[in-house]
Amino acid sequence: MASISVYDQKRSLSEARQGTWLGEGSSVVQQQALFDLDRAFKNWWNNPGHFSRPTWRKAGVNEGFAIRDLSVRHINRRWGEALVPKCGWARFRISRKWADICAATSARVTLDRAGRWHVSFTTPPTVFKRQPTDAVVGLDMGVASTVTTSNRENPSMPALLSPGENQRKRRRERKLAGQQKGSNRRNVTKHQIARLSARETDRRKDWIEKTTTTLVREYDIICIEDLKVKNMVRSAKGTVENPGNNVAQKRGLNRSISSQAWALFRQRLTDKAAAATSLVAVVVVNPAYTSQRCSGCGHTTSENRKNQAEFQCVVCSYTDNADVNAANNILAAGLAVTGRGGTPHAKPEIAEHSGPMKRQPLVLVA
Ligand SMILES: [Zn+2]
Repeated sequence: MASISVYDQKRSLSEARQGTWLGEGSSVVQQQALFDLDRAFKNWWNNPGHFSRPTWRKAGVNEGFAIRDLSVRHINRRWGEALVPKCGWARFRISRKWADICAATSARVTLDRAGRWHVSFTTPPTVFKRQPTDAVVGLDMGVASTVTTSNRENPSMPALLSPGENQRKRRRERKLAGQQKGSNRRNVTKHQIARLSARETDRRKDWIEKTTTTLVREYDIICIEDLKVKNMVRSAKGTVENPGNNVAQKRGLNRSISSQAWALFRQRLTDKAAAATSLVAVVVVNPAYTSQRCSGCGHTTSENRKNQAEFQCVVCSYTDNADVNAANNILAAGLAVTGRGGTPHAKPEIAEHSGPMKRQPLVLVA
């Protein structure tokens, strides 16, 4: 199968730029978009299990572009400026070390759905300072409360919107449903909803940052569930383990926190563990039966679950909070692979040293 090389596309681009609206944009930015597309296709071809097929661009979704040969300048302690091609200098709030920003050679400018511009600099990960604690923990990602640890802590995510904000959002969503597609009024409502959603996303991210920082600071070994598997276990259609009983739970899990948020939680946990000054292991375990197994005697049956909240073993009559029991099982499974005893069903996670891209608000200087 023949494919069009990125260099052919570059040639077509320069032809297409002659005398058209494309010519008014920055050629550097447009070429970078071609390279991004090329990489996205190559990733997908070479590793289809890990990368999905590149999708068509959609107005208002993932808006952004890359800047190469970045130049930045310092204004004062709080503000810096970056040179955006064809736009000029754009001001941004400095939220990391200025030396790190200066070391960056490229950046990505994005527009979120609430209409806010951000700039992310590609910089090496910052070092996470910590002392060895010799403490270990298992985490249960739950339905009723978002996180339960084997040490009975409950660093659950707070409500992301206040009752008033929630009400406003619901009211606007109802309003949107009755408005004519493409009308200005509908666009205004859409923007209002997007702003509330952005607030929600910001608060969720903030909670993820704080919680993962605390965990990496406090524990040398952190055992978590493989949620891709857990979502299958909790499929709405039911599984061999628990046929058809999980419809409400699954819906609850989706409602309380999306799998995307858990992916970010895990990513930030491994990022910070990898950047830590003393060893932190993040162990990912198979979640199968962790909610039904007795952490006291190991007996596994669905009859151990009295209800959503309570665990009571039918053999040894061990009783506990269901989430704490699950977190204990996850810890035991994780410790087994690190050679500290317990049960199998776990695979160690190699924490990747990927440079976290921290977005910061960008303001165009008039
Ligand atoms: Zn038992």
